[in-house]
Amino acid sequence: MSDSHYDVAIAGGGLVGLSLAALLGKADFRVALVEAREPQLDWPKGSVDLRVYAISRASERLLRDAGAWPAIEPYACAYRDMRVWDAGGRGDIHFDSAELGEPGLGYIIESRIIEKALLESVAQCPSIERFCPASIAAFGEADDYRRIELEDGRALSAALLVGADGKHSRVRDQAGIHTQVSNYGQQALVAVVSCERDHQDTAWQRFLPTGPLAFLPLRDGRCSIVWSATTDEAQRLLGLDDEAFCEALGEAFDYRLGRIVEVGERVLFPLVRQHAERSVAARLALVGDASHVIHPLAGQGVNLGFKDVRELVDVLETARRQRRDIGSLAVLRRYERARKGDNMATMLAMDGFKHLFGSRVPPLRWARNAGLDLFDAATPLKRLIMRAAMGL
Ligand SMILES: Cc1cc2nc3c(=O)[nH]c(=O)nc-3n(C[C@H](O)[C@H](O)[C@H](O)COP(=O)(O)OP(=O)(O)OC[C@H]3O[C@@H](n4cnc5c(N)ncnc54)[C@H](O)[C@@H]3O)c2cc1C
Repeated sequence: MSDSHYDVAIAGGGLVGLSLAALLGKADFRVALVEAREPQLDWPKGSVDLRVYAISRASERLLRDAGAWPAIEPYACAYRDMRVWDAGGRGDIHFDSAELGEPGLGYIIESRIIEKALLESVAQCPSIERFCPASIAAFGEADDYRRIELEDGRALSAALLVGADGKHSRVRDQAGIHTQVSNYGQQALVAVVSCERDHQDTAWQRFLPTGPLAFLPLRDGRCSIVWSATTDEAQRLLGLDDEAFCEALGEAFDYRLGRIVEVGERVLFPLVRQHAERSVAARLALVGDASHVIHPLAGQGVNLGFKDVRELVDVLETARRQRRDIGSLAVLRRYERARKGDNMATMLAMDGFKHLFGSRVPPLRWARNAGLDLFDAATPLKRLIMRAAMGL
């Protein structure tokens, strides 16, 4: 065993790895957090991160438990309503938090704000050691620990290695865990825009035949847009000058918030669905995008990762209380079993939505219009789905 021995070594300090480290650190686990990229801690006033997330109420609770919420809340835009409608017809759904007696559906927050707040929580935990910038180069298995080598030559050991290293997880690949990948043939165009009308603290989504278009309300009155489109269409939209883009966007959005008056930098993200065939092995577990990547249409990706974190921390705390080995496969399988159903169901639901709303076939178009109206009127079902989306 090396001098630097930990209970848990985490590869990847994105939002999922950071939140896992913070919760484990608070529970007095000895944690090594290895992150390749230096975080962005300062930014020009008035600028907005292009990575903006819809954070569910359950994720808010997790961020509170991690000690990060007080630093996030002043920058979070609480949204109370969500409006979803279809370009191919008249169906319309209105999700209103008041229907559930809840003050809001969730929050729209820049990724870098959450990252900075979680970094502060991590820095306050003496049982966490952070290695950054550093990358895991290789790892091996001994009887009761994992040996881990960093690219700069340092060595660590841990009872459990967690891969929180994102979509291209090296931990997953080196452990020989296969992934199933399907390419949606779509890219998401992301940008921050100013609209003629107030966003009304509402998240808006219109389903177009080429893919969904979301407007997420920001605290400063602007909106963050995620426009999923076929690769050719996304490239075309990226290539338009600002004026032509604003016009195309306003039209695609039915001018629900009036004209688009300004657009900032535009960036494309390729969209894939990917899931690892297993999320555990001996002394190894995967969380977040390392385990599953889904379509961003319902803004659930990082929320699913936070649910993985909550479950893994619960499983490890229980194992420690019962004096069991936290890296044993029997313990880790409890985590895998607990998360599998929810992760698969969310992934399939996103695919179902994408295919239903992407279809130009007349019976499907009729069914989705009728379905949206029926769904909007079916209060108990709507409430159930709202509670699920809020992670409650
Ligand atoms: C356009 C778009 C919009 C989205 N909108 C939403 C939304 O509204 N709501 C939502 O919940 N989700 C959303 N998502 C999904 C969300 O971005 C991801 O689910 C989330 O970022 C995954 O977090 P993660 O920490 O698992 O992985 P990542 O954010 O990818 O973090 C992985 C980290 O690991 C580090 N790393 C990689 N390899 C190594 C190594 N070998 N050693 C050390 N470190 C390493 C990387 O530097 C990185 O910091 C969206 C995604 C897209 C593409």
